[in-house]
Amino acid sequence: MSTMPVAGVRPGTPEQPADLVVRNAKVFTNDPRRPQATAVAIRDGVIRAVGDDADTVPLVGPGTRVVDALGRRVVPGLNDAHLHVIRGGLNYVMELRWDGVRSLRQALAMLREQAERTPAGQWVRVVGGWSADQFVERRLPTLAELNAAAPDTPVFVLHLYQSALLNKAALRAAGFTRDTPDPAGGQIVRGHDGEPTGLLIAAPGALLLYSTLAKAPTLDEADKVDSTRHFLRELNRFGLTSAIDAAGGFQSFPENYGTVMELARRGELTLRIAYHLFPQTAGQELDDLKRWIDTVRPGEGDEWLRLNGAGENLTWAAADFENFTEPRPQLGAYESEFEKAVRMLMENGWGFRLHATYDETIRRDLAVFEKLAAEGLFPQGNRWLFDHAETVSGESLDRIAALGGAVSVQNRLSFQGEAFVSRYGAAAAAEAPPLRAMLDRGLTVAGGTDATRVSSYNPWVALHWLVSGRAVSGRRLAAEHNRLDRARALELFTLGGARLTGEQDVKGRLTVGSYADLAVLGADYFAVPEADIAHIESVLTVVGGRIVHAVAEHEGLVADLPAISPEWSPVARFGGYQAGSAPGLAGAQQADRVLEAAAASDEQFAWRLARGSAVPGQSALPQDPCFL
Ligand SMILES: [Zn+2]
Repeated sequence: MSTMPVAGVRPGTPEQPADLVVRNAKVFTNDPRRPQATAVAIRDGVIRAVGDDADTVPLVGPGTRVVDALGRRVVPGLNDAHLHVIRGGLNYVMELRWDGVRSLRQALAMLREQAERTPAGQWVRVVGGWSADQFVERRLPTLAELNAAAPDTPVFVLHLYQSALLNKAALRAAGFTRDTPDPAGGQIVRGHDGEPTGLLIAAPGALLLYSTLAKAPTLDEADKVDSTRHFLRELNRFGLTSAIDAAGGFQSFPENYGTVMELARRGELTLRIAYHLFPQTAGQELDDLKRWIDTVRPGEGDEWLRLNGAGENLTWAAADFENFTEPRPQLGAYESEFEKAVRMLMENGWGFRLHATYDETIRRDLAVFEKLAAEGLFPQGNRWLFDHAETVSGESLDRIAALGGAVSVQNRLSFQGEAFVSRYGAAAAAEAPPLRAMLDRGLTVAGGTDATRVSSYNPWVALHWLVSGRAVSGRRLAAEHNRLDRARALELFTLGGARLTGEQDVKGRLTVGSYADLAVLGADYFAVPEADIAHIESVLTVVGGRIVHAVAEHEGLVADLPAISPEWSPVARFGGYQAGSAPGLAGAQQADRVLEAAAASDEQFAWRLARGSAVPGQSALPQDPCFL
């Protein structure tokens, strides 16, 4: 019996009909045997057919949802190989995101409004994902601006791993006084009167910044669950379908993993997460690792939530913080504890990931690995990798390859590129990290963001950086040979992560038998001008055959999440990443920037006028960075 045609396809009665067919698309499969297709058919969360529209027709039954992609680009779902997604989810709805905001003026307007809608006892938190380099004003807010925007509400603004700005109310709430001593590796800046000014500096460690943030109230358990769901949806907005969690400070196991585990149990994850375990307390690392080795196993879980190993921190003494405004940290003799930690992991079949920014650290780590390898303790198949590796040398890459390691790179220089250039020079930045040298050696290289506290979680900002070599300031950092073509960059953000979790046969390509994880993009990644790559979003994201994000012509295909709680949440008011319009032609981009700069300087002129430091009738003067 025939039924109504669906999107031009008359359903038949196939034995095993597809649940979902996406057709009339430009499908980039990432499969060299069939790089392009127009349709994908999905059943039970797995891809059953990839080919021309006609190839999927026999799989369309009366219950099949057929999605017409209207000729749009479809790519495999993105996989962020280094994302602090679990911690990000627990905090998401409490944080004001400056991600994507293009002027400090707008950022401060958001802050002012959020301060007004934040109840007593709560804080306004801006915790990374932005950099002064992205603002047309090219500067941080001043403490005076924070105090003016929020006279009574505590405000905490984290800028990368470099500094935090606190208004007076936050200094009071955090209990900082003239008598508070500077902690090791951090500086509480004091004014002429000896009182803390509100500026905290990572010198070079970020612990002072994070421990201050930890004094702000957290969400209750129910709100943490909802916050995480909203964060995962926000990631789905950009076509992200998988992430590898790098753990992090203030992410204790098992306490802080309970929320994602609960969501996995309920079947409510919309992002696949492979997670790592990170010892929290200096001096107790070996005890923590031992306890985990005794109680859990890498690989435990399922394709939605799985333990992938230890790291990105193994022992605190071995961690080299990447604060490029400060000299490279001089690490003490960390090798003996570090060797014990790695030995324990390797003896027990645990893989790990290891945070290491500088070649100086990587060389020392490799010497430990090579010693263990000589004892037969570095078998192939125990997955391990270096994270970051901005200044890794060719010689170290050879040693990593010889030991069967991988590298996970992030676009931290999108946000910190200017600081890196100032300290190490443009020639060093051109090779940071040396992508071409990694790929030429055949190393497994995965791409990520390192969000949420330094970089933004928007993977397209990272893809733009991989392709263009440009920071968010617009400055081109990477050498020509160190930039990737679009297909290769996308491979780092799809197959790259899949390789780090051993899932390369089922994830990262659109092939028959792969997980049905894909994104229909709002703009064609392979055709848009380079500058527009950073502005791409997904219009339809599918994970495991389930539609988890649907906008534009697909609006309504997925149910809304419960309203954000608490009501005063900055995300409820402003959303997450602040999308600007894609610049398109370079001239339009230029005009946009000029307009924004003019508006900013008019405002500054008014400010100067009010203080008698400008003459009425005279034009606005060039911006004076020292106007405080
Ligand atoms: Zn790291």
